[in-house]
Amino acid sequence: MEPAAYLDSLRPAGSKRSSKRDLIVNAFLRQEGHLTADDLFDLICREDPAKAKPDSRGALPRISRATVYRTLQWMVEAGIARKVDFGEGRFRFEHSYRHPRHFHLICKTCNRSFEFLSSDIESLLEEVAAARNFTARQSVLQIHGTCDSCRTGRASLAEGGTTERVFARDALRIAIATERSGLEFYSRAAAITHDGRGRRVFEKLAAEEQAHLATLEARYRELLQQDPQLESRPTFLFFKGAANGLFAAGAERLGNGVDDRQALMIGIKCERGSHRFFKRYGEKFEDSEGKKIFLEFADEERAHLELLIREYRALVLRQRRRRPARAAKRRARREPAALS
Ligand SMILES: [Zn+2]
Ligand SMILES: [Zn+2]
Repeated sequence: MEPAAYLDSLRPAGSKRSSKRDLIVNAFLRQEGHLTADDLFDLICREDPAKAKPDSRGALPRISRATVYRTLQWMVEAGIARKVDFGEGRFRFEHSYRHPRHFHLICKTCNRSFEFLSSDIESLLEEVAAARNFTARQSVLQIHGTCDSCRTGRASLAEGGTTERVFARDALRIAIATERSGLEFYSRAAAITHDGRGRRVFEKLAAEEQAHLATLEARYRELLQQDPQLESRPTFLFFKGAANGLFAAGAERLGNGVDDRQALMIGIKCERGSHRFFKRYGEKFEDSEGKKIFLEFADEERAHLELLIREYRALVLRQRRRRPARAAKRRARREPAALS
């Protein structure tokens, strides 16, 4: 969604556009970072007055400090802005347009703040709230201290990149790690499966993972072209399983002499876990590239899950049909021995 369409979607139907408000909102949306109301007011005063659209009487809007405060309050209520308190005795504001929610690291030396998010922390917070029958509206987590560049004098790569792009990079990294561990899992499963049809399913899934992996890697390279330093920017989205992916535990279990049915069942469990993680987590994010990556990936995982469930059922049926025949053969073999 473009900024203008985004704003229209938030404006209540039939409400009038106000040129002053639009000017303030647009100036605010162009900023990355955490602004105080006074920062925003100064910014608007510095802006080229030619950008302001004259009102119906041909006068340029004059924007007072009070209008900026009121508009910020309106933006918070409309969900365009988030109000943050870094313990400085005044509030700061950040926009939520294509800007995923996050936690903050706050440096007491340079007063800069850095954004991060962790799926593990979020699920713990949810768990605690649920255990206490608490309906959570907002969770704030802040780490106060000294940043890397204040401590070491090294230049920081945390600034200059937009959180949205770093989030997309991290979402792609998680999807790629999952795809790689999926590929490893299906290749192994194909190697140990005796049932011909089951083996072909695992081979098909391994080939699919390979193709998706190539698509995701191409998308990753495209993203890097938008920001040459993107690779080295600090991690935004922390995810414990990212290093070896969601299928790693399943691949390990395949090593312990499992049969065809168990292999399919392990695959089903992995795909279900992966689908649920990407869908639930992706749905919680604001409209952004990272959200899109999560939801598209969730769909792929659901397709794999459905295929595996169908195959599992088909295998059970085949085994049931084969079993009576085999039992009859065994009986036939045993009979002469029993007679003698
Ligand atoms: Zn610092
Ligand atoms: Zn922030």
